[in-house]
Amino acid sequence: MMKKIGILGSTGSIGTQTLDIVRANPELQVEVLAAGRNVDLMEKQAREFSPKLVVMWEEKAYEELKTRLADTNIQVRLGMEGLIEASTLPTVEILVTAVVGMIGIRPTIAAMKAGKNIALANKETLVTAGHIIMPLAKEMGVSLLPVDSEHSAIFQSLQGNRQNRIHRILLTASGGPFRGRTVDQLRNVQVEDALKHPNWTMGRKITIDSATLVNKGLEVMEAKWLFNVDYDQIQVVVHPQSVIHSMVEYEDGAIMAQLGTPDMKLPIQYALFYPDRKPLTGERLDFYRLGQMTFEKPDTDTFRALKLAVSAGRTGGTMPTVFNAANEMAVSLFLQKKISFLQITDIIETCMERHTPLPNPDVEEILFAEQETYAHISEKLNRF
Ligand code: NDP
Repeated sequence: MMKKIGILGSTGSIGTQTLDIVRANPELQVEVLAAGRNVDLMEKQAREFSPKLVVMWEEKAYEELKTRLADTNIQVRLGMEGLIEASTLPTVEILVTAVVGMIGIRPTIAAMKAGKNIALANKETLVTAGHIIMPLAKEMGVSLLPVDSEHSAIFQSLQGNRQNRIHRILLTASGGPFRGRTVDQLRNVQVEDALKHPNWTMGRKITIDSATLVNKGLEVMEAKWLFNVDYDQIQVVVHPQSVIHSMVEYEDGAIMAQLGTPDMKLPIQYALFYPDRKPLTGERLDFYRLGQMTFEKPDTDTFRALKLAVSAGRTGGTMPTVFNAANEMAVSLFLQKKISFLQITDIIETCMERHTPLPNPDVEEILFAEQETYAHISEKLNRF
């Protein structure tokens, strides 16, 4: 049966891998594509997949794409209005949210209100607006299918066990490129070092997040929302081989896990075809070659961001937004080489310390807390 999908963030790491899955599965049909500014790739994607509508966030990119696609029937749209139109297009059944950052909040909510199922990669949206999104999913009867490999693993480990209570979630972490280093050894690390992830090839922002362990912190909050558990029920386990993608421990001590080679195509495909599994080419796990798997406790004294994330999550309200927004801006400054690696976590901490959280914020209040955090960082930049 034909499945009609939309992809927000189609030119990125998750977006392009989603399109690889579309190429291999003729029953998937692309209805809409949206991206930020990569006109060349968007033009290619539009010509290959013939969606009804494409969206560019940036005005110059939009103008350029419009000119380039003038010989086609494809509609071209701009900015947030465009993203919302794309997310709510009547023919879209499942929306892959693969934009990076909180920009995903409004389109995701709009899509859910229009009855779309969501294949969720854009964790920042759930972290900051989980208290709005989870009840909305219930109200609208739509599914939130996790794309993040850890959450997909948890979701897969829950199949057939829905009636049983979760004792705890064991969220695995590779530890990132700087696992085992001391604070002193992190003082002078460069952007290029932080971009070298040992196991996964991903977009730049999430790769830096993996190096600071912010990503694992965001994932803890994401897991709390998706699987309705308390923070005490989530344990982060460092597992450098990234073979076990996460686990669920039940009340009797039984632990279910999902294993495989590190390849995002599996969780993306599982989300698109759930509950069915489909063939997938690619490297298979070879236990003879793997030899051993190892585990350790995360070093949260060196990688303080993980502790800060859990604390932001426990506080709730607008605090996760401040954690996330401070990180989004700090990562961008680090990538521009304006701040050091360790300053990313310092900035997050400072922003959280000065913030008085607002309980149960609506979307406007979340976006206000975001802007306030950015303004504070810009203002204080010289002091960091
Ligand atoms: P990338 O940076 O590779 O891609 C981001 C995509 O979002 C690009 O298509 C980009 O367009 C688009 N985009 C950025 N800003 C806007 C905007 N304002 N409006 C519309 N589109 C925009 O990121 P990833 O694919 O790595 O990550 C996407 C999300 O998935 C993140 O939330 C990440 O945490 C999550 N995720 C990623 C994983 C991975 O393996 N990569 C694993 C698990 C989760 P353009 O390039 O044209 O500007």
